Amino acid sequence: MNLPLLETTEYQPVATRPGPAGRRVYIETYGCQMNVADSELVASILADAGFQITEQAEQADIILLNTCAVREHAEERVIGRVSQLNGLRAHRPNLTLGILGCMAQHLSKTLPDRAPFVDLVMGPDSYRRLPQLLSQSSDDALLDVRLDRSENYSGVHPQRTTGTNAWVTIIRGCDKFCTFCIVPFVRGRERSVAADQIVRQVQHIAAEGFKEVTLLGQTVNSYRADDVDFADLLRQVSQVEGIERVRFTSPYPVDFTDRVIDAMAEVGPVCPSLHLPVQSGSDEQLARMRRGYTVDQYRQLVHKLRAALPDLALTTDIITGFCGETDADFRQTCDLMEEIRYDSAFMFKYSEREGTYAHKKLPDDVPQAVKGERLQHIIALQEGISRQINQQQVGRTVEVLVEGPSKRPAADGQPRYYGRTPQGKTAIFPQLAASNELVAVHIARTTSHTLFGDRIDDAA
Ligand code: SF4
Repeated sequence: MNLPLLETTEYQPVATRPGPAGRRVYIETYGCQMNVADSELVASILADAGFQITEQAEQADIILLNTCAVREHAEERVIGRVSQLNGLRAHRPNLTLGILGCMAQHLSKTLPDRAPFVDLVMGPDSYRRLPQLLSQSSDDALLDVRLDRSENYSGVHPQRTTGTNAWVTIIRGCDKFCTFCIVPFVRGRERSVAADQIVRQVQHIAAEGFKEVTLLGQTVNSYRADDVDFADLLRQVSQVEGIERVRFTSPYPVDFTDRVIDAMAEVGPVCPSLHLPVQSGSDEQLARMRRGYTVDQYRQLVHKLRAALPDLALTTDIITGFCGETDADFRQTCDLMEEIRYDSAFMFKYSEREGTYAHKKLPDDVPQAVKGERLQHIIALQEGISRQINQQQVGRTVEVLVEGPSKRPAADGQPRYYGRTPQGKTAIFPQLAASNELVAVHIARTTSHTLFGDRIDDAA
């Protein structure tokens, strides 16, 4: 189906629609945890409208790709994947193909040329209208990429896949406008979900059997709804019966208050693990990125956190080769990594995103080869630091929330089980354990990414 794209800036109800009954929907998710949570939201909205969610693309009548726009590479992958899925139409001519999420929002104008066979393009604030649009009989492809300052999907209970952790979106959008980042343009402005709704959602999650929740937001600690701030919310969520672990991601350094640090230190279920994006160790680069903090302010925050939470595991995001990054800027990033000693880091080469301030005003002037070399350097640096930090776990006993059988069996082929420690580290052990069980594991050896040991409590 090669269809022209019709922009529907307002949803137009149609008089006659085919009912959704029996139509099977397959959702594939790309990008961050916010997208995972959004896919659960979409599944819930569609299931409530009578659609059936399937795990098999080949069996689906409707295939939706929930996409990411943060890096160009991710967009290319989605275009490749949707072209491949278009091949299914040889056997399923009535298949509907849709692109949702940040990339849909970002590329709404160019997608018709790049993937003319796509039937539906929908941004992250439009999902409530998905059932109507999918039921709309039209020869034209449909586009709905309105940003809505009030949409926080309140009242929708996401359809979670089974597992040990439940994602709970508490704040949508972002007001920070870091110069390299597309998120504020594709996810709109910040809006928080009311605290009572979040607590009800977490109670529901606990009743479903989950022991762990992760509170989500692009700047999660910027949360404020009426007179409840993020510190209050951490305390409220931690009181929900049955919830043993509370995590959150990602906080914004500038918005990290002492009240939040106190809540992390005082409230048992809040895990001692924190992803605190730094992006660069150079003040000049941080200013160019408009991050709103200096290296020293970031350093002071880490000192406070570590003083309050001595067993804190700290992870971060780092970009190499951002506009104007000199060798000296880069060395400062390496120095900061050695000083802070993160447990792990997500490290990326800068990828220019159309529509951002950096794309419009700052030349992308670091050669690709230099970006690549710098990236390889910090990956190696971080690997060494992670390995040393993990080695300190040898001989300790850690509490592990079991996720299930490991994909990597032992060398002799025997099954192994894995889960996460409160610090968020993956631990693998050979003794039988059930998913969602809390077990004690004595750590015998480690790598830069994983702890290995033996279950030492009452193994079944
Ligand atoms: S805080 Fe900055 S990097 Fe994070 S989502 Fe907002 S604009 Fe992007």
